[in-house]
Amino acid sequence: MDRSKLYRRFRTLLIANRGEIACRVIRTARAMGLRTVAVYSEADRDAMHVALADEAVLLGPARARDSYLNVERLVEAAKKTGAEAVHPGYGFLSENAEFAQACYDAGLVFVGPTAAMMNAMGSKSGSKALMEKAGVPLVPGYHGDAQDDATLAKAAEKVGFPVLVKASAGGGGRGMRIVRSAAELGPAIVSAKREAKAAFGDDRMLIEKYVDNPRHIEVQIIGDSHGNLLSLFERECTLQRRHQKVIEEAPSPTLNAAQRETVCAAARKAAGAVNYVGAGTIEFVSDGKDVFFIEMNTRLQVEHPVTELITGIDLVEWQLRVAFGEALPLKQDEIKLDGCAVEARVYAENPTKNFMPSVGRISTWRLPAETGGLRIDAGYREGDSVSPHYDAMLAKMIAWAPTRDVAIDRLNRGLEDSDVRGIVTNIPFLSALITHPKVRANAIDTGFIERELAVLTSASPAPGELELCAAVAAIVNDERQADTSSPWQTFGWQPVGRRRRNFAFRVGHGPEQKIALNYGSGPSTLVIGERELAFAIAPKHGGFDLTLDGVKSSVAAVIDGHELYLRTRNGRFELHWVDPFGGETEEQTGADKIAAPLPGTVVAVLAEEGAKLEKGAPILTLEVMKMEQTLRAPYAGVLKSIKCKVGDIVQEGIELAVVEASGE
Ligand code: ADP
Ligand code: ADP
Ligand code: MG
Repeated sequence: MDRSKLYRRFRTLLIANRGEIACRVIRTARAMGLRTVAVYSEADRDAMHVALADEAVLLGPARARDSYLNVERLVEAAKKTGAEAVHPGYGFLSENAEFAQACYDAGLVFVGPTAAMMNAMGSKSGSKALMEKAGVPLVPGYHGDAQDDATLAKAAEKVGFPVLVKASAGGGGRGMRIVRSAAELGPAIVSAKREAKAAFGDDRMLIEKYVDNPRHIEVQIIGDSHGNLLSLFERECTLQRRHQKVIEEAPSPTLNAAQRETVCAAARKAAGAVNYVGAGTIEFVSDGKDVFFIEMNTRLQVEHPVTELITGIDLVEWQLRVAFGEALPLKQDEIKLDGCAVEARVYAENPTKNFMPSVGRISTWRLPAETGGLRIDAGYREGDSVSPHYDAMLAKMIAWAPTRDVAIDRLNRGLEDSDVRGIVTNIPFLSALITHPKVRANAIDTGFIERELAVLTSASPAPGELELCAAVAAIVNDERQADTSSPWQTFGWQPVGRRRRNFAFRVGHGPEQKIALNYGSGPSTLVIGERELAFAIAPKHGGFDLTLDGVKSSVAAVIDGHELYLRTRNGRFELHWVDPFGGETEEQTGADKIAAPLPGTVVAVLAEEGAKLEKGAPILTLEVMKMEQTLRAPYAGVLKSIKCKVGDIVQEGIELAVVEASGE
């Protein structure tokens, strides 16, 4: 194959993927002046990646097999739009040699390695055989062609239990079984084969020594078509659930400089064994001392941003430059490691329900700004739907800082400042995970999450005084923004006299918690039991600042009917507002004063002294800020006196009339 035919300059790029990675690739391609073409399934008509691209082509029905995995339709989409190159992202067809070949055959540049390289490295067995020859340290095991029961049993015996039975074609942690004794081996092979056949259409197995409580360490590499190959340091991805990464960081806090150089050299050797072109990752497990090769991923990885943040290199830009046929712009000794980066994968899933995926419409999507070392690679926006057809990853949040501790704190702050509603996410779980003392101390292994699950998914705290006050403030704030006739409007009228409005809230099936709002003339207060608290609300995007007892703090709020979501400095709270319409009583408290709520002019007097008034009967009209407002009787009674006449200019708070309540 002539490499100049494989890799050459192009102007239009088709992204054969969806979600955050499609958006991520489009962003860099656009910055490089390329035209971008998105592809989508029927479920993704309104998806973010479709909106971001210059053009978009419908592939077919929602099912991945009918759309994102349909090679023919993808090649057709490129032809139709004049795309000259294809970026496969990760997942889907990114490691599919037939797809790379089909692109080449159609005259398209495939942004990645050649089909031959993928074939060599795509199977775990094949790549291990290659690595063995190249002298890269391997996990001891069997990766031969013979697949009969006797051969596999003998191999497991020789390796020594526990062993890991692994699908050679595997990915995403599927087709893998830990086997602790000879008796378990047969059934484990049968079930792993069944899973592998279904997921990858290939049930070849390999057997590996199971490294107990290992760490996962991997090295980012990239090669060009001129024979240059670089390693871009390592990532530690030990925090996993079911062999799937959850948190990744760079550099690994486990390695010292000498170990770092050893693992990077091993990775360059591994990739060099196939003269690798493009971005790739060499994965190792480590027992804490040594590292052992497990597999190579011949594509961009989910966690590539942590490498970008510590090297300052845009890996997608480099992928595209390699695909243009350019030489890599830096030499190995020009690549510098700066600071630390940590990434968290934000999923639509419920950690308290065994991480069950959560599908539906994202009604609220408020993530913090990408400032102060925070980066967010998202594939969804407010109003988007999470479909059951695809991976449930919504976004990645990544934080960089000069030190690991600060990077963790920044990431945690970013997670804490995120409000996503409509679907369930793992955001609180991620927050609990990265702030766990053992994570901070790097005292972890791949089994950590499973062991600590109870702690990591523990229930949120019960609402306290601040949350009850915030709940009432949220309702009041919402009413005054939604309803211009509400007395809570910014420049509206405060009803004369004091009123009390009672509220009750409940968390789940817990007890009702009561709070009352006193309002009317004079400043409003909140009453919980015996305590009466002065408060003030200043609305802002996504919520308001609540000043309570002289302390101002930020509250994020989402009100959906009777359901309130609040985020205060104490965490996230979900409260049910008990009977918001029927249960309240507006009772009169204290003496009423009919007073000017703002400075204005008396334009009409509507009742005479001594008149009997129904509750709500008009007494006089003021003009304030060019708007007329009528002051009314706060309760039934007799108009004792009127203290003003038409034309008077009155100051705020001045008493204008007195009503004496009737006895009943
Ligand atoms: P990484 O090491 O980058 O996490 P994985 O092998 O776990 O690599 O897969 C990368 C991502 O692609 C994961 O989020 C996975 O769920 C997703 N993925 C893997 N295979 C497919 C597929 N066939 N279709 C859609 N998504 C996939
Ligand atoms: P996948 O293609 O699904 O990513 P990998 O071979 O990369 O498969 O393994 C996924 C994860 O399984 C690793 O990150 C590691 O946590 C665990 N694992 C893999 N091989 C071993 C092993 N030999 N011993 C212990 N754990 C392993
Ligand atoms: Mg892997």
